[in-house]
Amino acid sequence: MIKIEHLSKNYGDLVVLKDITIEIKTGEVVTIIGPSGTGKSTLLRCLNLLEYPSGGSIYINGVDILDKKVDVAKIRQKMNMVFQSFNLFSHLSVLENLTIGPIKLKGMSKQAAQTKALELLRLVGLAEKTDSFPDELSGGQQQRVAIARCLAMEPEIILFDEPTSALDPTMIREVLSVIHRLAREGMTMAIVTHEMDFARDVSNRVLYMDEGIIYEEGPPEQIFEHPKEEKTRAFIQRIRSYTCRISSPDYDLYAMNAEIEVFCEKQILPKKTRNNLLLLVEELLQIYTPYLPTIVLDLTIAYAEKSERLKIVCESSGEAANPLDSDNLSDDDLGLTIIKNLTERIDYQWLNGKNRLQFLLKTNQP
Ligand code: ADP
Ligand code: MG
Repeated sequence: MIKIEHLSKNYGDLVVLKDITIEIKTGEVVTIIGPSGTGKSTLLRCLNLLEYPSGGSIYINGVDILDKKVDVAKIRQKMNMVFQSFNLFSHLSVLENLTIGPIKLKGMSKQAAQTKALELLRLVGLAEKTDSFPDELSGGQQQRVAIARCLAMEPEIILFDEPTSALDPTMIREVLSVIHRLAREGMTMAIVTHEMDFARDVSNRVLYMDEGIIYEEGPPEQIFEHPKEEKTRAFIQRIRSYTCRISSPDYDLYAMNAEIEVFCEKQILPKKTRNNLLLLVEELLQIYTPYLPTIVLDLTIAYAEKSERLKIVCESSGEAANPLDSDNLSDDDLGLTIIKNLTERIDYQWLNGKNRLQFLLKTNQP
């Protein structure tokens, strides 16, 4: 259905897209992942001609849309886009947001446009909100309206650019559920997302983009479980981890615990593991707190490659010394005992001018 060949885009000297070749078939759901700044948004914007590519070609059903004779407004209807920031018309009601496009651009009658709009609002769970204005809705509701508005143009493919990255966790879910439903109904979609569980569940194919090219592509199992390229592996590893920097004894413990819980939820960790992890972090912070006025602590929670165990890495500045061997701690220190009980391995290293302690969290605790 869509064929992109050797697509490139530069802004002056800055080469954003180098050489992109992709095919998307009807009914396929393709997700695009990769670090920020690698051109994911630019790619989507080139597809629906919000940006004009510097080179290459884009065909929809065999028609070259970069041909100067092509009607750009028609192309945008065919490849309609949903943005991170909703982009609803704030002075129009929800219903009017959905009907304005079909009436003005597709020449639909008001009556027909309203009937269709109501049907779509029902599909996204917002039929009650037809007369509300966008600022009376939550972010998740606004994004669902934006999706319904996009559908009102009867696109052949929907392009989503990080549709949930401006939303809170519950709202992320409501929006992802709607996208899941569209996928089940056979909608062709290209989705840029940072929600990896979602990408794994919803996609037929995942494209890993880096350095302006499609670095690796394949079914979700390949990209997430057995990536072939080193860069893909490093990226997946990184996004499957949580990091925070603590540089004062007055750090926000509640915010940090909440973020760790969100991380656990995303990784679908059992409750027991989650509780052990939180306890371990709490005890570790007890040990580091006396030093916090003068040191900086980087705490990372990640999956250890191969073993699929959670590892917790504490990297701290200061003089070379193992924080667990400190004179302040006796061998029967309660905190230290808890840490030892929760972990099956502790490694200390002086590395790159930092004290690096790595803990492997025990699994299958009785
Ligand atoms: P991603 O969506 O993967 O984070 P983007 O496509 O937004 O990446 O951006 C890729 C690169 O292109 C970035 O370095 C960005 O600064 C640059 N860029 C994007 N749009 C423009 C523009 N209109 N003019 C100049 N540079 C741009
Ligand atoms: Mg982007």
